[in-house]
Amino acid sequence: MCLLIVGIGPGKPEGMTKEAQAVLEECEVIAGYTVYTALLKERFPEKEYYATPMRQETERCRWALSQAALGRRIALVCSGDAGIYGMAGLVFQLSAGMENPPSIRVIPGVTAASSGAALLGAPLGHDFAVISLSDLLTAPEVIRNRLRCAAISDMVICLYNPASRKRADYLKKACDIVLAYRSPDTVCGYVRNIGREGEEMGVLSLGKLREMRADMFTTVFIGNSTTMETGGRMITPRGYRTIRPDRVGQEKGMDPGGTGHQALSTTKAGRVVIFGGTTEGRLLYEGCRKQGVEVSVYVATKYGGRILETDGRAPGLESGGDGMQGAIHCGRLEPEEMVRAIEQEQARLVLDATHPFARKVTEHIRAACAQLDIPYRRVCRTAPEEEDVPEGMYFDSIEEVVSFLEGKDGNVLVTTGSRDLDVYRRLDGYRERLYVRILPDAATISDCLAMGIGGRHLSAMQGPFSEEMNYGFLKEFGIRWMVTKQSGAVGGFPEKRNAAKRAGAALLIIRNQKETGISLQEALDILEELK
Ligand code: SAH
Repeated sequence: MCLLIVGIGPGKPEGMTKEAQAVLEECEVIAGYTVYTALLKERFPEKEYYATPMRQETERCRWALSQAALGRRIALVCSGDAGIYGMAGLVFQLSAGMENPPSIRVIPGVTAASSGAALLGAPLGHDFAVISLSDLLTAPEVIRNRLRCAAISDMVICLYNPASRKRADYLKKACDIVLAYRSPDTVCGYVRNIGREGEEMGVLSLGKLREMRADMFTTVFIGNSTTMETGGRMITPRGYRTIRPDRVGQEKGMDPGGTGHQALSTTKAGRVVIFGGTTEGRLLYEGCRKQGVEVSVYVATKYGGRILETDGRAPGLESGGDGMQGAIHCGRLEPEEMVRAIEQEQARLVLDATHPFARKVTEHIRAACAQLDIPYRRVCRTAPEEEDVPEGMYFDSIEEVVSFLEGKDGNVLVTTGSRDLDVYRRLDGYRERLYVRILPDAATISDCLAMGIGGRHLSAMQGPFSEEMNYGFLKEFGIRWMVTKQSGAVGGFPEKRNAAKRAGAALLIIRNQKETGISLQEALDILEELK
């Protein structure tokens, strides 16, 4: 008396394990979702079949359990692996309520993440999260939250059930959540009908994936910040490199204390390359010189270069000035220039101490290091924790704020800058409801105008804004919702908060994103080890 739960792999007969094949040959009855039983009928025509359409899983499992309890040899089949968004769990749950349950054996199968990854190349070469977008059995907010957490963690994300006829825009919504944390250029892939007729795969950017129409036979892969496209395939580097010769074989794959994907070699010669322009950058530069570690510093502006000259011993400011211990390079680098520069430096380690708001730059540095397989560490600023204000409503992203505002009335004042303004397009009547305050930057202004936000709805002005000024804005435009960042006293938060209180506007606050990386002290410790 045994019920077999069999994962039949993605589709084609060769994709089934030998064990699955063997138990199917032996059984009398095969039960499963209509699509899969149809696939099996050709290969095992002599079997009895019990097929039910989707959403009748409970009935199917109950029937299978009862048949097995009667002593029939029955196999319940699932595509891929029966334990991964399959019926194995349900069968165990149902059997727990039976008086005389049959024993249950699960035969593993090749899941879509695995078979799909093989088609695409090697997208799952590093840590990854698997998330199903189906909200039939999972609350939508749980799915959103998991997506957000996975996006923040920079794990590759594999999406099952990305869409169905009723959920046509779910993939788009999921991409929007991920786009709050990852670049639109992130390398992504999709596979459709793996191992079946109409098998198809494609590699595309996250921006394009957002526009893609998926169906229920598609599995989607969203790369991490190091994932790349090579020859039309999607690859996430495993990312480790050799450790100390005396420890080879013990530490492979470890990535001590960093967000970089490469472990650090302490024996390899080469320079430390610092991307700075911040106080942290200067302190790291000083740290290198103190330890006698060869260093090059890249800053975007001359001002950034000058702050390095604290003790007057820094070499020349213009690109060059290549002293024994270090060179300082000024100027913004395009992504390709960055790759070339780091390559020329023969860097042994890249420390990214750029400003926390310069997210794009950080992305480019990270990608360049991944491409060159050079250890990278993000040096994070440890900002003092901001205390929550009791009347504020807190959100982790603009995406969340917009979801909250959907279905609510009233005018909205957006003071969170130009990033992600696009997300507001989702709000019905956003052109009428939205009032946007941005810096007077020509490109940003034209972006807003292109979105249809102009006239009285667009203010381009440099802060700081006094409480009175904020109050004026709120009253003048009849604002009900004021969206702000958790910008602290320097960012003019108290003036916004007080004005909102007086004007009776609700404060929607976007929390600061905690960056992942190492602290300044940890970076200095690494330099000491390198000397
Ligand atoms: N137990 C299955 C998953 C069932 S959930 C497994 O382990 O693979 C159904 C989802 O799986 C689909 O929406 C799709 O995202 C994915 N999937 C299953 N079979 C697939 C196939 N042949 N090609 C592409 N995606 C597939």
